[in-house]
Amino acid sequence: MSPAGKKFEYAPAPESRAVVTLRSSYGLFIDGEFVDTADGRTFKTISPATEEVLAEVTEAGPTDVDRAVAAARRAYQRTWSKLPARERGKYLFRIARIIQERARELAVLESLDNGKPIRESRDVDIPLVAAHFFYYAGWADKLSYAGLGPDPRPLGVAGQVIPWNFPLLMLSWKIAPALACGNTVVLKPAETTPLTALLFAEICQQADLPPGVVNIITGAGDTGRALVEHGGIDKVAFTGSTEVGKMIARSTAGTAKKVTLELGGKAANILFDDAPVDQAVEGIVNGIFFNQGHVCCAGSRLLVQESVYDEVLVSLKRRLGTLRVGDPLDKNTDVGAINSAEQLARIRELSEVGEAEGAERWSPPCELPERGFWFAPTVFTGVTQAHRIAREEIFGPVLSVLTFRTPAEAVEKANNTPYGLSAGVWTDKGSRILWMADKLRAGVVWANTFNRFDPTSPFGGYKESGYGREGGRHGLEAYLDA
Ligand code: NAD
Repeated sequence: MSPAGKKFEYAPAPESRAVVTLRSSYGLFIDGEFVDTADGRTFKTISPATEEVLAEVTEAGPTDVDRAVAAARRAYQRTWSKLPARERGKYLFRIARIIQERARELAVLESLDNGKPIRESRDVDIPLVAAHFFYYAGWADKLSYAGLGPDPRPLGVAGQVIPWNFPLLMLSWKIAPALACGNTVVLKPAETTPLTALLFAEICQQADLPPGVVNIITGAGDTGRALVEHGGIDKVAFTGSTEVGKMIARSTAGTAKKVTLELGGKAANILFDDAPVDQAVEGIVNGIFFNQGHVCCAGSRLLVQESVYDEVLVSLKRRLGTLRVGDPLDKNTDVGAINSAEQLARIRELSEVGEAEGAERWSPPCELPERGFWFAPTVFTGVTQAHRIAREEIFGPVLSVLTFRTPAEAVEKANNTPYGLSAGVWTDKGSRILWMADKLRAGVVWANTFNRFDPTSPFGGYKESGYGREGGRHGLEAYLDA
């Protein structure tokens, strides 16, 4: 109560819908301008939390893809590859600063279109997007020090296709290194989350980026296929499912295109009996419920040492009882909406398979909104390695719990997957962390933490999680003729 005896009232959240100005329809961003499609097709993008239509978006057809690739080629030949590297760097710094200035708007738009909690888009996604542009801006005039030869050359035009789980962050992982290395790009965002990429197109205009250096074409799988199969591109950068990644690997085989694939994962989060349990439980929750589990490197398989299994399960369930599921724009929300009806159907289907195969299913009591796409945080215990929920990527807020007795058994189980993107190790012993990191076949191994990202650190997979690295000095290699 205030001194005047009145109830304390909260000020309205600064991250409100009002900070975003949406157009009713969007064209394609080609050669520095928003243009109409030559094929005349459109689709709607909706808010997964309410099913409200947010905007109408263009579906690029083959003629549009041709136009975008031609614009990128012209910009490559006439301006971008001719600019001194320091000037390229300046544009990237300018873009990074505009992203910071417009961070609130970008965060709200990302949460609206994707369904992720504003706390995550505001505190994780958008700051990391700006950090990626700052980081690669710094590399633009230092490429000869990257260890890739004295005078590494750009590849030319990059065709880039990204998924819906971190829309603007995946865009930054692709566009920032490509531009820093002197390439131009045509990027296709996912069909369910095109809006922040289109706002990024406006940011390119605001930064006076030369026309054609960045082209954004919207559409679904057919548009993506037309782009990656286009004869006019020199490089394919794809992030998405392993299934589509394999199709791209087949269609680009035998061409001169350089290809990087960032695909699916089924990470093990391994908890030893000497780990501080409460801290580890925070890491487990972050590992699988961050971004509704729509994370390629999510810790979807929890491996617990048998001696602490009961204690960990009690603590985990208690913590899950405190998670708030609901409105993505409420800053107190921990778990937002599932991105699409299709993804929700897949999560439901695999969870039902988990039950049918004999695993025990548990969710905390939680009321889900009536409209929109929602799934309660879910834990499966009694899971064995043969269960589909332990083998297949669910890409949702669903954790499978398995147990182990010895470090060797933990390694054996963790590596028993077709994927190899990430892993987590929770233990008090530094020597054990190093021993485990050496044996785990995963591109990233986190120790006593999980889902930490940094632009200076390379990220990428082994086995069916793809090839090539994004981030850090290693991320330059994908965009240089080295
Ligand atoms: P998806 O493969 O269905 O779609 C990804 C993108 O590819 C979308 O833009 C889509 O329109 C496009 N696409 C679809 N078919 C295509 C085709 N034949 N040719 C070219 N493009 C095509 O994947 P998704 O469901 O959007 O994303 C989830 C997947 O992405 C998960 O498997 C996840 O693990 C993976 N992912 C990986 C990383 C990583 O860095 N390894 C990061 C994020 C997501």
